[in-house]
Amino acid sequence: MSSESQRMEKIVSLCKRRGFIFQADEIYGGLNGVWDYGPLGVELKRNLKDYWWRVMVRERDDVVGLDGAILTHRAALKASGHEDTFSDPMVDCRTCKVRLRADQLPEKNGVPQCPNCGGKDLTEARPFNLMFSTQMGASADPDSIAYLRPETAQSIFVQFKNVLDTSRKKLPFGIAQIGKAFRNEINPRNYIFRSREFEQMELEYFCRPEQGAELLEYWKNERLRFYENIGLPNEKLHVLTVPEADRAFYSKGTYDIEYDFPFGRQELEGVAYRTDYDLTQHQKASGKPLDYFDEETKQRFIPHVIEPSAGVDRTVLALLCEAFAEETVTDEKGKSETRTVLRFHPRIAPIKVGVFPLLKNQPALVEKARQVQALLRPLMNVFYDETGAIGRRYRRQDEAGTPFCLTIDFESLGERDAALRDTVTLRHRDSMEQERVAIAELPARLLLAIA
Ligand code: ATP
Repeated sequence: MSSESQRMEKIVSLCKRRGFIFQADEIYGGLNGVWDYGPLGVELKRNLKDYWWRVMVRERDDVVGLDGAILTHRAALKASGHEDTFSDPMVDCRTCKVRLRADQLPEKNGVPQCPNCGGKDLTEARPFNLMFSTQMGASADPDSIAYLRPETAQSIFVQFKNVLDTSRKKLPFGIAQIGKAFRNEINPRNYIFRSREFEQMELEYFCRPEQGAELLEYWKNERLRFYENIGLPNEKLHVLTVPEADRAFYSKGTYDIEYDFPFGRQELEGVAYRTDYDLTQHQKASGKPLDYFDEETKQRFIPHVIEPSAGVDRTVLALLCEAFAEETVTDEKGKSETRTVLRFHPRIAPIKVGVFPLLKNQPALVEKARQVQALLRPLMNVFYDETGAIGRRYRRQDEAGTPFCLTIDFESLGERDAALRDTVTLRHRDSMEQERVAIAELPARLLLAIA
């Protein structure tokens, strides 16, 4: 097994052992391509989404948010082209009967073969629509079909006029959304990289046609900066200019932002210049105007749109892969051991700070530790732990990716040196260095580090 696949196995096993990610419906044998996020995973995911929302919506004057429904009118996804063309080419292996994506088959001497059994007897490729449909209401006729949305973008286009009229934004401006999307992927794989239920973070940034090309570059650069700001280094991020033949016919330019995963270089996000395609389609199909009136030029036109569309789960996986490290350290007794650590950027780390009384049977230490916990808890995710040796408590937090730990010891009570009363030991995850910090300084100090 290659060292990269070993690394991936270790990450998957740590994620299960520490409560980041579980197979959905595991006790019933698992639901293929569907995952649940455990106590640490949900915090990590939430921090990622919160940071995206902060920089893409709250810190900008030109973007507003939307939280659209998952259930989607069939007509909307007919108009967008999804009902007719949102498909992947599928083949069956006649030897072992598995279903495969025709465009992802490994080849041997130029001949595609089944990755499962190595067989070469494959059926012709045929399109397989990736949308999940469901029935609305009690009758089961074709008119009752609704879809689970395959992307969050369409509700943004469908609600364009309502958002424009109520927010009174002027071009260029954007509408952002984070939410679930569903695709009946033929081969869900690579852990949470390709799943059937996932979350997207999408921005539709509307502009005048002549601004489109420049804004495509602008958003590509903004998005690269975002990934660096959550701890994915520049040298592991790559921008692929999608060739015209591989782009949607309406796209005037698409970049894929890719990351070097242990299983290869793969897409995290697409930044696409979709022209006026979506709004035009919905205007035609619904008969309702979705145009924009420019007060200055007195012109009416359908805006163009740039779409940075990112996957929450794929980014979570990139963050886990980037953070995972094993290193050899020497303990107090001179014995060397392996330290497993998740080096998350503090702003996305699930737990920000661990709070430990040195000994659990000393009420004065416990009381002060509880006070520190109560001081910090409204500001950030704090984990209180009083069990086991202090070194073991540090290691547990290293594995969870907690950037800071605080130990409340006898010095904190001022018993030996009054000058140290109400100070604690602050231990740093990456350097393992320790320093003495006044409790009163902790909120400002830690808030700055996790902002
Ligand atoms: P791929 O080619 O990998 O199937 P795509 O190009 O079809 O992806 P888009 O339709 O551009 O993907 O969706 C935007 C983003 O949504 C992707 O960059 C990815 O981060 C995320 N995404 C899409 N499909 C999945 C999936 N099945 N599982 C997890 N995330 C996904």
